[in-house]
Amino acid sequence: MLGDAVKQAIQSSYSRFLKSRQLNPRYGQKLMIAAIARALGGIRLDDEAKRTGDGHICVVEAGTGTGKTVAYLLATLPAAKALGKKVVVSTATVALQEQIVFKDLPDVKQHSGLDFHYGLVKGRGRYLCLSKLDRILADGHEELLFLYDDASAGVSPQDKALYQTMMDKLAESRWDGDRDSWPEELPQAAWSRVTTDHRQCTGRRCSFVRQCAFFKARDSLDEMDCIVANHDLVLADLALGGGAILPAPQDTIYIFDEAHHLPDKAINHFSAHSRVVSTSRWLGITEGQWKGLLEPLESAVYLMQIAAPMESALKAARSQLDGVQPLLAPYMAEMDRTSPTPRYRFPQGQVPAELERIAGHLQVAFDDIYRLLDKLCSEANKILESEHSPVPMADLEAIYPLLGSWCARAEANRDLWKSFADSTPDPKWPVARWITLIEYEDTVDFELVSSPILASHTLSQHLWEPCCGAVATSATLTALGTFDRFRLRAGTPGDATYEVVPSPFDFAQNGILRVPKGAVDGNQVEAHTQSIIRLLPELLDPRQGTLVLFASRRQMLDVNEGLPAEWRERILMQGNESKQLLLKLHRDRLDAGQGSVLFGLASFAEGVDLPGHYCEHVVIAKIPFAVPDDPVEAAMAEWIEAQGGNAFMQIAVPDAAVKLVQAAVVCCGPKRTKAWSQCWIAA
Ligand code: SF4
Repeated sequence: MLGDAVKQAIQSSYSRFLKSRQLNPRYGQKLMIAAIARALGGIRLDDEAKRTGDGHICVVEAGTGTGKTVAYLLATLPAAKALGKKVVVSTATVALQEQIVFKDLPDVKQHSGLDFHYGLVKGRGRYLCLSKLDRILADGHEELLFLYDDASAGVSPQDKALYQTMMDKLAESRWDGDRDSWPEELPQAAWSRVTTDHRQCTGRRCSFVRQCAFFKARDSLDEMDCIVANHDLVLADLALGGGAILPAPQDTIYIFDEAHHLPDKAINHFSAHSRVVSTSRWLGITEGQWKGLLEPLESAVYLMQIAAPMESALKAARSQLDGVQPLLAPYMAEMDRTSPTPRYRFPQGQVPAELERIAGHLQVAFDDIYRLLDKLCSEANKILESEHSPVPMADLEAIYPLLGSWCARAEANRDLWKSFADSTPDPKWPVARWITLIEYEDTVDFELVSSPILASHTLSQHLWEPCCGAVATSATLTALGTFDRFRLRAGTPGDATYEVVPSPFDFAQNGILRVPKGAVDGNQVEAHTQSIIRLLPELLDPRQGTLVLFASRRQMLDVNEGLPAEWRERILMQGNESKQLLLKLHRDRLDAGQGSVLFGLASFAEGVDLPGHYCEHVVIAKIPFAVPDDPVEAAMAEWIEAQGGNAFMQIAVPDAAVKLVQAAVVCCGPKRTKAWSQCWIAA
């Protein structure tokens, strides 16, 4: 339990920060610091530095302008230090991550008097694998590449030139192996060949480990008191059991900024999927190449004994998989083929008995392949560690990542089929299962997906329960005045501290919310679109900054097309340029005294900072109710109805309310100097 000394440290660092920055205390900021200090202050540790008791989670909705980053850093850093724990700050977006690392943390360190080390940590996939790069550039190993991904083409001369440039820059210390510090955007296909994951990496046994960008970054973690990461990286670490990349949850106080994204990110991380046709093709290629691949390892008798049943295991999986496609084909008739992602969702997640039966066999078949590859990898690792290898180390190092990537693929298939093998609905932990039709070139494939509907159980089990402490914050965590929606989705415990701290902005004075009289029903798509085309020139002042948010891309394009030419010239539309560039062009136009109108989809508003004259009107074309064909949302609605609830009131309305708030604060948040802001809604 934190003593008076820590409370004193928090108070004095805040006072010092305000004085040094010549800022006035903000009411909401003070409330937020107090709430976090109270929650983290209640944490007790046993003799082994493990938390005892609960109440270690603090959930704070902090309105725009609260100064929440400063609040959570000043409250958490001294508390974590007193507990002997690390702080992991996690964001959903790169923009916020950069702001925290390059602006807020240096600011807090310089002005608060707190002494701490901090740094940014990224996932392994953002770093170069030097071992892979070396093999690609070395003659004779290129032919292994296509075995990683059955759909990949060979290495083009341009890619090879790129890889050589990478190697040259590394050798001259002009590049550190971080994808984000490469001067241009690197194409994903070229990059994926030279990066790796935990399965393919030989770790400390790798002959390149001393120069390895990922391990250099990881080693620097030990020095850090405060690590800035993102939700995906934290969730990937938790999925590996926690402590694989980041400090272990029991040694960590997490701060989740933009916490409203955490549940959806968690659902993605813990879902399973597999494509039937491409997996069958991969099994066939692997079967054909298996003997030749292992040839260099023949003198390692034990490895060869482990590997012996592989061909029959691959054959068994492929023959079962070939029986799946005819079972899925009839569902094509029930899919909306005009949709970009034609899908069929199994009601209540329950798949037909015949598919369940085959899924059971496939679970066993892929588990056999997985266990065999896992054993091979672990034995290969032992050889890499030993001084006397029965096989050339270079050959083993070349084959190891391939075995690792196949092992991961077999594991993913095993998990998917396991979920399909027993699909009896569980009213407590519902699961959505569906088929997506994938058509490319002359191939028709079926992707099977199994996804939890709620992240609450997963987050509770992997995060909230094991962690030492956590803060979850965002400007939009409540819906319709309660935290119920967030608690349902994120699974934060009932005994957590829940606090709403007010924004310093006077929304009531700064904004006007108007619903046009005679608004057209949004379900009458054509009439609704025409009404927006008619209303926009009437409602807007062409010299001002405006943001128009649409619920569908089709309608956004149609409205743009339908407006008079002089209006179209002022429109900057999402999708035509990157978001950052659109916002810059918008600000430039307004700074030059010209009017500018941003067109975007509902999510465009999130995180957008357009103070003062940059945005004086927001037009919301339609209240953004969730897309009804999203399979997870549809399954959640079905589950709520099955529990006797009302999906519209419990999901659709709160979700729309959150989106409405996110859109409206763009316009009404910061203090206005010129005109009153106006937010128009066409129903
Ligand atoms: S340690 Fe792992 S990531 Fe680093 S170069 Fe070696 S195999 Fe690649």
